[in-house]
Amino acid sequence: MMNKEAAIRMDEQDPLKIYRDEFYVKKGQYYLDGNSLGLLSKRAEKAVLSLLDSWKEYGIDGWTKGDNPWYYLSEKLGEMCAPLIGAKAEEVILTGSTTANLHQLLATFYKPQGKRVKILADELNFPTDLYAISSHLAVHNYDASYMKLVKSEDGHLLQEEAIIEAMTEEVAMVILPGVLYRSGQVLDIEKLTKAAHERDILIGFDLCHSIGSVPHELHNSGVDFAFWCNYKHLNGGPGSVAGIFVHEKHFGTRPGLAGWFGSDKSKQFDLSIEMTPADTAGAYQIGTPHILSLAPIYGSLEMFREVGIEAIRKKSLQLTQFFMDCIDQELAPFGFTLGNPKDKTRGGHIYLVHEEAARICSALKEAGVTPDFRAPNGIRLAPVALYNSFTDVWETVQILKDIMENEIYKKFENKRGVVA
Ligand SMILES: *Cc1c(COP(=O)(O)O)cnc(C)c1O
Repeated sequence: MMNKEAAIRMDEQDPLKIYRDEFYVKKGQYYLDGNSLGLLSKRAEKAVLSLLDSWKEYGIDGWTKGDNPWYYLSEKLGEMCAPLIGAKAEEVILTGSTTANLHQLLATFYKPQGKRVKILADELNFPTDLYAISSHLAVHNYDASYMKLVKSEDGHLLQEEAIIEAMTEEVAMVILPGVLYRSGQVLDIEKLTKAAHERDILIGFDLCHSIGSVPHELHNSGVDFAFWCNYKHLNGGPGSVAGIFVHEKHFGTRPGLAGWFGSDKSKQFDLSIEMTPADTAGAYQIGTPHILSLAPIYGSLEMFREVGIEAIRKKSLQLTQFFMDCIDQELAPFGFTLGNPKDKTRGGHIYLVHEEAARICSALKEAGVTPDFRAPNGIRLAPVALYNSFTDVWETVQILKDIMENEIYKKFENKRGVVA
């Protein structure tokens, strides 16, 4: 039986409960959108202020002086990020944006040859990835038919067997999400990587919805490359700098989009006409790093280092299980269906499907819950391990019940906002 007392008990027993106070969580509000934009933490705020101080104090010398010299910050944060994805420190660099990083990786690793020319992706992937892939095909004078999209049977989930079946002789590269952005399905990276490599295909993953929520073993799985943003589960702030993983077996591959910040750091200021790329993932940086947008990630990653991704995943699974149990018990008459996998292949959020989703989201917002609407009929709700509680989940379901029972959603238009 789910009830408020059960939620309170689970909160009391939660070993991560102390971290809620590390974040700016507003009283009386239920923030369940950490998979779109994570909340600000006090440590991230402190890291930004400390960085501003180093600018104030050192001016140009901030590149090499102070607690965190800017010249090495991207590498330093890559090292701090590495345990979250099972990578070696030198395989990770924080740089660019998700989409720009995918462009870099396509420019570097997409080398169509003979019959092997197509790029395999899936129709449920976040569109920016597909736009980037299409543009690289166009650079090589290939039309849209060279992007092969695996279809979903139910519009929510992908069948791994279907993906593997699509890895044919004409495929040069596969790009897939680690966790699907709508349904939250976790793909089996190890299995898919093995299948791709058995067929001589390169494979890369978009980890936007998995990093900081679901552990990965990228190095041991032999994944060729990966990319992600740091403003979702990693709480790096709006537009924070993104990340790249390149497996060490590819070190030395010349960057497709070269720039001086990809240089071997000891040679960069030789300012030679010939570039000497770093022999790490750092080679895939382009220009001067966005230092002010790197700073908050530093504070945030400190907490991930203390807690460890396994403990975060454990609590996240408990939160989403409790969420689904509460929904079953409290919302059965109201026509919701769950679009996320119910088993352990679910990621950090649940995905409620309802034909009135847009209006229900507006009603939730008015009642103090921050959900995430995804057209045409999806409501994403992410209870985040570091700052959400079981009580947040219980109260959200009660608010949802009230909205449905009393048809409060009918006050609103069934239309999405500009950003939704
Ligand atoms: C959020 C997200 C992006 C965002 O890309 P940006 O370049 O940061 O705007 C890309 N891919 C996926 C799967 C995402 O969830």
